[in-house]
Amino acid sequence: MIKLFRFLGPYRYWIAAVVCLMFLQSIAQLYLPTLMADIVDIGVMHGDTAYILTMGAVMLVVAALGTACNVTAGFLSSKTSAGFGKIVRGKVFGHVERFSLQEFDTFGTASMITRTTNDITQVQQVLFMLMRMFLSAPLMIVGGIVMAVSKDAKLSLVLVAVIPLLAGVIVFVASKGIPLFRSMQAKLDRLNLVLRENLTGIRVIRAFNRTEHERDRFGASNEDLTRTAIKVTRIMSVIFPIMLLLLNLSLVAIMWFGSIRIDLGYMQVGDLIAFTQYASQILFSLTMVSMMFMMIPRASASAVRINEVLNTSPTIVDAPDFKGSAGLKGAVEFRDVTFSYPGAEQPAVRNVSFTAGTGEVTAIIGGTGSGKSTLMNLLLRFYDVGGGSVRIDGTDIRELGQEQLREMIGYVPQKASLFSGTVTDNIRFGNVGATREEIEHAAEVAQAGEFISGLKDGFDSPVSQGGTNFSGGQKQRLSIARALVRNPAIYVFDDSFSALDFKTDAKLRAALQAETADATLLIVAQRVSTIMNADRIVVLDDGEVAGIGTHRELLDSCEVYREIVMSQLSEEEIA
Ligand code: ADP
Ligand code: MG
Repeated sequence: MIKLFRFLGPYRYWIAAVVCLMFLQSIAQLYLPTLMADIVDIGVMHGDTAYILTMGAVMLVVAALGTACNVTAGFLSSKTSAGFGKIVRGKVFGHVERFSLQEFDTFGTASMITRTTNDITQVQQVLFMLMRMFLSAPLMIVGGIVMAVSKDAKLSLVLVAVIPLLAGVIVFVASKGIPLFRSMQAKLDRLNLVLRENLTGIRVIRAFNRTEHERDRFGASNEDLTRTAIKVTRIMSVIFPIMLLLLNLSLVAIMWFGSIRIDLGYMQVGDLIAFTQYASQILFSLTMVSMMFMMIPRASASAVRINEVLNTSPTIVDAPDFKGSAGLKGAVEFRDVTFSYPGAEQPAVRNVSFTAGTGEVTAIIGGTGSGKSTLMNLLLRFYDVGGGSVRIDGTDIRELGQEQLREMIGYVPQKASLFSGTVTDNIRFGNVGATREEIEHAAEVAQAGEFISGLKDGFDSPVSQGGTNFSGGQKQRLSIARALVRNPAIYVFDDSFSALDFKTDAKLRAALQAETADATLLIVAQRVSTIMNADRIVVLDDGEVAGIGTHRELLDSCEVYREIVMSQLSEEEIA
């Protein structure tokens, strides 16, 4: 947690101010009972009204000053801890943005969200507590003891008896509570995961009548978290009553022994009053300190989780002397590429070699799970290859900057994802500088013009989060337009035609051909008809290349390809 506090930089003066203010406030608090004792012993006992009024006024001023310090310190502490939260959230977000997909896979989305929100809030709250009490509580304890002893050393023996008792209770409670605090964050992760899956999978859940099951699953998670929270609260709630009991018992003891000492003439009434106040201050501060020590473990568990994110360095970083993409034409080569996903036993692709030249259409076909999307992920450098290399015009893509590399590629992902905004916003996402004409042209080529003009507001129609107000095929066409408007050297269509009907598929390919004449086209497809006319077809089978060639060549030479074709086309179509 201390490590996280390095982000407090801009607020260090405020913290110093709070420390000073809390110091002054504690002094005022410690001074007040002494004034009170004087009023009673000197003013009241001798019937000196003037003295009572003067000292009363002094007390008012001291109390007012103490309160002012306290309020200001509270204000500064709130601002500092909130500002700290803002800084850390910004750091985490900025850091995560540089992660490759590899790192996202290791944390998981749900945990990432908890870490950026709840975990940071935990640390923020403890920071607030620390600022309010870290200095003042120990000061009140030590100062209170000193003052109490100075009032009457013998009577202080009562405190000597009580404090170890209270400390015992605190240690007991802490040992029970701290492990529970730690497990709470993990349970919150779990709850977030279930909730997230529910919200994103709502259609499937409804369709399969799994609402009941999901409700139970959420209920179980919720119950689990609640039970732990209740346990923690139950343990924590023991502290206050016990502390009050001890406090009141010790006050009784102080009164008892104090009155005896007053009778014997060892002590004055005012001192006894002051003494009881010091006793309350000491015991109360002790409780506060114990609370603080209880919250620290929970926050440090959170801090560890935040640091895990911050300490994960992105595996994919630009080489210090990376090259720009200037002069590259976009011929793609996979050279003996092997890659395994983190934690996977089998490589997802093995020894894949093929080239995709400029001005050519290179198609990749193969069953589901054969590694087609994986190859595209490698080309975009979402992951780094395990062996071999991916090259553009002979240059290893690891020597290029990531931004320069991706600038060259118009990528249409297998799962079309749109963002909330308008249709235009979504297409312009591909190229911020695109003009209205370019956007409309791209939509036209992507065969999206027709349905867009059918929308109420045309290109200004709203797109909801994730593009849920569009059909699968419409989303695909919008994401194709988004890639086209970039006018890149390399196009990657990862199964982007699967949700289109045959007619639109054919029209789209014809329009694309004219548009992308000089570019390198990589088309991943399931349907043979989509890729039959490609210049080169790469057949993938279980992560390995089963054959490379044109449709005709492969029909003769490649068994895997023939099987795929036979399963889709009729005899006439094949011939
Ligand atoms: P395709 O696109 O040909 O259907 P993929 O390239 O998506 O196939 O997947 C190839 C293999 O890699 C599959 O066995 C799949 O289970 C695995 N795989 C895909 N993505 C991941 C991932 N993020 N983590 C682990 N394994 C993955
Ligand atoms: Mg795929």
